[in-house]
Amino acid sequence: MLNENQIEILKSIVDDNKELIIDLAKSNNIPNSDASVGVAKFLIADAGNFSKMSKDQKYHYENIIEPLINDVPCEGMIGESDLCMGNGFIDEENLVWAYRDQDMRCQECIGEKNRWNANNP
Ligand SMILES: [Zn+2]
Repeated sequence: MLNENQIEILKSIVDDNKELIIDLAKSNNIPNSDASVGVAKFLIADAGNFSKMSKDQKYHYENIIEPLINDVPCEGMIGESDLCMGNGFIDEENLVWAYRDQDMRCQECIGEKNRWNANNP
């Protein structure tokens, strides 16, 4: 079952960043990336659809959609994920903005970088 945050994130990806799904499908050698987008839309349409996924839809979910909305890794303060100042992942609450701004960092890393910039003009 997806929570409200995850549905919000997925909605934002389908509306504005569909290529994230398509690129991930391609790198997973899934030929019909449209089907992955279709599964995303299916899940957005109704929270209850999660439990109605077919085996095939679940495959798209587990390989393409879940990695985009669950435990998404932070790229780290300076683009090195092992230099993350937080727990290594981007909070669900911040993921929508991370995708919109194409800034895949957690709040801790963004805050730390901003502090560093403020102290090093
Ligand atoms: Zn981080």
